[in-house]
Amino acid sequence: MEKEELKANQDAQERRAKKKPSAKKNTITLVPLYCKGCGLCVDICPTGTLQLYDDPKNKFGASVIIEAPDFCIGCKLCELQCPDFAIFVNYEEEKKEGGQ
Ligand code: SF4
Ligand code: SF4
Repeated sequence: MEKEELKANQDAQERRAKKKPSAKKNTITLVPLYCKGCGLCVDICPTGTLQLYDDPKNKFGASVIIEAPDFCIGCKLCELQCPDFAIFVNYEEEKKEGGQ
């Protein structure tokens, strides 16, 4: 991984170390085909839930992994930040609630 990617992972881990697991369970859905491993979601996640990893199957060389799902607070910042619609939070649950 590049230096910036390693730094993004390290910063995320430091943020997570200051948090506790979320009281509410949230579901994160990643669409690997759309993810280009840019790390914007890793940078913005306030709880350090996400991490980057080297992914030879991705044409950009990196992808995201949901490393600590228990820490996700469902804020959706990752979903809003992703330029490629590659990550969704509580998508199925909200679809059901919305009756769609
Ligand atoms: S912001 Fe989107 S494209 Fe970028 S790493 Fe995260 S999920 Fe992948
Ligand atoms: S919803 Fe919020 S806490 Fe959960 S992974 Fe996305 S940015 Fe992180």
